[in-house]
Amino acid sequence: MRYSRFTSPKKCWVGEHQKICYASREEAEAAALVAEHDYGAPKLAVYKCEYGNHWHLSSRV
Ligand SMILES: [Zn+2]
Repeated sequence: MRYSRFTSPKKCWVGEHQKICYASREEAEAAALVAEHDYGAPKLAVYKCEYGNHWHLSSRV
């Protein structure tokens, strides 16, 4: 299970959506690469949350 370390990700509400929180930019970038590779997702942007000391991925380009 390669996702075992992400079994219970922290989330926070951003607008009407819950987004997964990443503790660091490196962790968010790693998750973005996995998503791009595994799901063929478009390039995901990493940005710092304005509500807390963590990072999110944005699928909106
Ligand atoms: Zn957040």
